[in-house]
Amino acid sequence: MHNKLEYEALINEVTILSDIDDVFILEIVNNLSIKEKIILKIQGSVEVGKILIYGWKKRLPFYLFKCSEHGYQINYLSGHYMALHCPKCLHQMVQPSELSSEPLVTDIKIEA
Ligand SMILES: [Zn+2]
Repeated sequence: MHNKLEYEALINEVTILSDIDDVFILEIVNNLSIKEKIILKIQGSVEVGKILIYGWKKRLPFYLFKCSEHGYQINYLSGHYMALHCPKCLHQMVQPSELSSEPLVTDIKIEA
């Protein structure tokens, strides 16, 4: 019988965001309880625990969710709307090579 205690120790070991890597995420996914799996399926995300990142004042809840492109991800609520963002998608957004391949929309002609 799996329960939250099985990965609580894992959660407590996280001190920097890069600790949350693919291996860590897989470990959490493999140890989800039935209840957590149901919440994940219905809500799209489930809290896996409160993590204290180095430099932060207090522990924040982290959530497991599924990115349509990158699979399971773990992150905290952020941004103006307190939403869950896939760290890998955010990383891709700031890749300059991706942006420069897009055609620039500056050549707009207004015909009189
Ligand atoms: Zn993603």
